[in-house]
Amino acid sequence: MKIEKPEYYINGVLEKNMRVLAKTITLIESTLPEHQNTAKAVIDKLLPHSGNVVRIGITGVPGVGKSTFIENFGMMLIREKHQVAVLAVDPSSKKSGGSIMGDKTRMEKLSVEKDAFIRPSPSGGTLGGVAGKTRETMIICEAAGFDVIIVETVGVGQSETAVASMVDFFLVLMLAGAGDELQGLKKGVLELADAVAINKADGDNIKNAKRAKQEYENALSLLLPQSPAWSVPVLTCSAVTLDGIENIWETILEHKKKLGLTGEYTEKRRKQNLEWMWTLLDDGLKLKFYENPAIQNLLPGITRDVEKGKKAPNIAAKELLGLLK
Ligand code: GDP
Repeated sequence: MKIEKPEYYINGVLEKNMRVLAKTITLIESTLPEHQNTAKAVIDKLLPHSGNVVRIGITGVPGVGKSTFIENFGMMLIREKHQVAVLAVDPSSKKSGGSIMGDKTRMEKLSVEKDAFIRPSPSGGTLGGVAGKTRETMIICEAAGFDVIIVETVGVGQSETAVASMVDFFLVLMLAGAGDELQGLKKGVLELADAVAINKADGDNIKNAKRAKQEYENALSLLLPQSPAWSVPVLTCSAVTLDGIENIWETILEHKKKLGLTGEYTEKRRKQNLEWMWTLLDDGLKLKFYENPAIQNLLPGITRDVEKGKKAPNIAAKELLGLLK
């Protein structure tokens, strides 16, 4: 990739030039040191232009209807004169090389809208790395004028926590099952939720969805509320018939208003910034460690010694960390 001066990316993004926007994100996702330096300069300049937006995280198991929901939710927002960016954090892309989400056939209507921007998950790297790039991509999209940012992730692994820590509102999509709705449900994800929506509440499924709603309400009532100003609602919706979709947007706006009044909205973003700094520090330290030539030299031998029981793990770790000067 030919690299341009930072101003090229900065001006292009601020002018909402979609080609430059896409190029800037590719630059950010690159791991080459010279790309990283330019990327840092670009993000630095664009950061003050970001922030005046609603950031929404959406999660749910594969098949729950995330892409159908985001497509129609996004189309509704565009009709209401919003500009919508959809980003993905896909924990599968590292190992499998493929992805559970983010392929090009998804969100066909939304992807051709000029007021929408859809970016699949960056591939490779650690989840921390992928999620870190997503934060930066979010900043870039905001600077380009997108005022609703949707970050989508699948309901597996740590990606949910990572996404919840970068958005204002975390929406958990669920399905009404035939059996016990709460079976197999990770309590952890409910603790992250600002709202739960039972999707596919249409046709014969409406009754099941209503029952599931009751069960989730009961489950949520056992959790300690994250904020005294907000009790997590359980909603029902259909991403296909669009029933309940508008209500979800209204809920998101109400959350913003209520937590805005108590100052918690701003406080949450401040905490998230601090968290971001720590994540970057963690990643940076790890990188420094693995890129250190002395460590690269000795690591394979020491690993073998520990494996064979010739060296104690604590001694090995101490020796290796001692090389990080
Ligand atoms: P994802 O894997 O979470 O992104 O799920 P998709 O959006 O790909 O949806 C999976 C399947 O469920 C598709 O066949 C959709 O057409 C269907 N689907 C999604 N939302 C609804 C809904 O609200 N009602 C019904 N009946 N089907 C839905």
